[in-house]
Amino acid sequence: MFAGHIGVALAIGRAERRVNVGVFVAAALWLDAVLWLFVLLGLESVRIPADFATTHQPEFVFPWSHGLMAAAAWSALTAAVAAWLCPRAARGVRWRVAALVAGAVFSHWLLDALVHRPELPLVGDESATFGLALWDHMPLALLAEAAIVLLGLGLFLSGGGLSRGKSIALAIVTLLVLLFTVIGMTVAPAPPSAMAMASSSLENGEPKSWFPPCPPWTWIWEPIRSSTWPNLVFPARLKSSSSPGHSVARPMEDAGPNWR
Ligand SMILES: [Zn+2]
Repeated sequence: MFAGHIGVALAIGRAERRVNVGVFVAAALWLDAVLWLFVLLGLESVRIPADFATTHQPEFVFPWSHGLMAAAAWSALTAAVAAWLCPRAARGVRWRVAALVAGAVFSHWLLDALVHRPELPLVGDESATFGLALWDHMPLALLAEAAIVLLGLGLFLSGGGLSRGKSIALAIVTLLVLLFTVIGMTVAPAPPSAMAMASSSLENGEPKSWFPPCPPWTWIWEPIRSSTWPNLVFPARLKSSSSPGHSVARPMEDAGPNWR
């Protein structure tokens, strides 16, 4: 489940178009970023089982990133950070933005609980675990993931506001991510090691060394790096009426793949 998280982020982005959708994509992938960082730090672990070539399912011990209570705590923490960073001009919507960011973070746990085997703990290593194991029925899981992606993409594009070129670019990139996710869960070879998997995931957003350079990670990082963070939220009245689809904050338009 990777493209599916992005599909949910796009749907949430449709609900609040004044926020750069990259923020919601980052939020929806946050728990995995924590996981791979913690794996590299030795706080959590991932094991590649002997039958990986047929199941494509690593085995995780990840109570601090993917425990139910941990996910709730990360959701609350990221919501607090989002509210704190909300620009002064957008104070009126900051609690709404914070709630949507929290929802995006927690949606990750819900989707993972749908597809993982029962390995997502309540709290700590020894607690009850959750997981409906949809990945044991891979065609069904990938169909569900594709449906989530297409629904999220359709919702995000349906609200207008994007130029035709950006809409096409977003659709192509999103569908490519879905394609690579499907390949990763079906025919991709096992990663050489858990550590290689972790570092590759942090670099590319996908635990496959053959994944093309960085599109999802760029989506997350670029809006932050390009200093759009202080400008992420725009009061609707700031939108230019003379050029539909473009806000007056043109520097943000030129700063990278921000889609708004
Ligand atoms: Zn995850």
